[in-house]
Amino acid sequence: MARPDTIKNRECKEESVLGALFSILVPPVCTLCNEDIVDHILCAGCSEEFEKERLTGPACPLCSEPFLSKETLAHTCTECAAHTPPFVQATSLYLYRGQVLEALHGLKYRGTTKVARPLGLLLSEEIKRMDRPPDVIVPVPLHTKRLQKRSFNQSVLMARVCSNSLAIPLDYKGLMRVRDTGAQVGLSRAERAKNIKGAFALADAELYRGKNVLLIDDVYTTGATMRECATLFKAAGAATYGLTLARAAKFS
Ligand SMILES: [Zn+2]
Ligand SMILES: [Zn+2]
Repeated sequence: MARPDTIKNRECKEESVLGALFSILVPPVCTLCNEDIVDHILCAGCSEEFEKERLTGPACPLCSEPFLSKETLAHTCTECAAHTPPFVQATSLYLYRGQVLEALHGLKYRGTTKVARPLGLLLSEEIKRMDRPPDVIVPVPLHTKRLQKRSFNQSVLMARVCSNSLAIPLDYKGLMRVRDTGAQVGLSRAERAKNIKGAFALADAELYRGKNVLLIDDVYTTGATMRECATLFKAAGAATYGLTLARAAKFS
């Protein structure tokens, strides 16, 4: 009799053969523009548009804030120098503008949930480059009120894609949003930090002792949310990393 793991392997093989056959018959299309995709996550055109916003060049080694002058050597930014972050490092892939902003707006405000897959796969590519793979992926939660209105949390959707594609556990219940902070749009850096204070809690802090936690969110604006969440994990004894698809440029 075949052992359960052999059966599972066989099922996986059959699934991948079926998947390959399916993609020959129905070529995958770019979820942003419906163009055919060959080997990439997005079509060539969208990929090029995303690459225009890619954060490269000198940046803060802690929060990845990009420096305007490309001649500057990487150094700790003013914010991180004044307030040491509770996370080991927070990384963002793109500037929050152009087609990256369009894709995230589609996902958040127009319910285009199908774009969560390519966006999650782009995040996965970055996770693969991390020195130490995370033990657990934690999406930044929305408050229940906001969740009810939107019916999904964009960060959970993207984090689930990362978890599935990299076989890293997803934990979307351990970090809870216990206070409704309302929208942070339009608030200053100081107001955001004050507004978000005490908004999160861990269901069971003991679970994270000694763990490498990766927090996933859609946009890093001032870092107030990421800092607030990371503070809890740090206090629980975890090494916390942050990863967002985009980074707002207006606060830099
Ligand atoms: Zn496209
Ligand atoms: Zn910094």
